[in-house]
Amino acid sequence: MKNIYSNIIKFNSKNLIKIINILKKNGIIGLPTETVYGLAGNAYSNNAIKKIFKIKKRLKKNPLIIHYYSLSNAKKDVILDKKFLKIYKKFSPGPITYIVKKKIHSKIKPLACANLKTVGIRFPKNKIIRKLLKKLEFPLAMPSANKSSGVSPVKPMDVFEEFNNKIKVIDGGISNIGIESTVLNLVGKICILRPGVITPKQIENVLKIKLNTLTKQTVVKSPGSFKKHYSPGIPVYINKNKCPDKYAFITFGKKYPVTRNSFNLSRKSNLNEAARNLYKFFRNIKKRGYKKIYVAKVPNTGIGIAINDRLKRASK
Ligand code: AMP
Ligand code: MG
Repeated sequence: MKNIYSNIIKFNSKNLIKIINILKKNGIIGLPTETVYGLAGNAYSNNAIKKIFKIKKRLKKNPLIIHYYSLSNAKKDVILDKKFLKIYKKFSPGPITYIVKKKIHSKIKPLACANLKTVGIRFPKNKIIRKLLKKLEFPLAMPSANKSSGVSPVKPMDVFEEFNNKIKVIDGGISNIGIESTVLNLVGKICILRPGVITPKQIENVLKIKLNTLTKQTVVKSPGSFKKHYSPGIPVYINKNKCPDKYAFITFGKKYPVTRNSFNLSRKSNLNEAARNLYKFFRNIKKRGYKKIYVAKVPNTGIGIAINDRLKRASK
């Protein structure tokens, strides 16, 4: 009998060759990163990119992040200025995406960037994806490995379930951070398009500037920041002190009692732990058949800013 989980594969030298072959032949594959699991394909191949948009049911106007191993690889496709280099040196490889200008002769397919003149680039830190990127002759276009507007996957089984076992996924264990990268716009007004584990303060300290706040225009510029996003598929109500027994209650800190319907993001009030648990809880709660989720207040500092951003969008 065929093992139904055979599409979840270990990362070893034999499988590395298999994975490289899949990608070379314009196939797509689920990969671990330090933030969440991604759905990767050759960024220089229209066929691969089309497959990503199709399986995710993603709108064509929502551009994909392009993942590189090194600066010298990225330089072939995008224009990198001093500000970029300053911030890159501090935070990459790591959980941050930079919006930069695309070169005219860039090999990245326009479809991957939603025909924009800019590209979102990232240098992930996860060891598995770095080993793979190092071997490839092309960068990877890679959005989160979930159906559009849903919850990002944080373990191989999540990817397996999202796409009904239709794609192979490399087992890299549980994602270390658990929410998506910070997206920093470096074209025109410098601003954060999506908060993440790297905070506005950290970026301001490196660049020695005050970041611009998001305007309606910049939101349009980052089509992925549509209001409803990161949704577990059932109603989410935020900033609640209590919750009826029949609904799931996501809490934070030790002031909340342990009850059958409560899911504590971090009893120790650790925001990193909370970020790691958020999407895991969303999926578990949905699986257990709860019809609604109430969420207690989460402090809006550090990575808490990103957690609140996702909660707010999930509650739309
Ligand atoms: P995901 O699909 O989960 O990886 O999210 C990618 C995010 O990066 C989305 O919010 C995209 O809109 C954003 N993004 C990617 N490329 C660009 C770009 N060129 N300009 C603005 N936002 C971008
Ligand atoms: Mg996503």
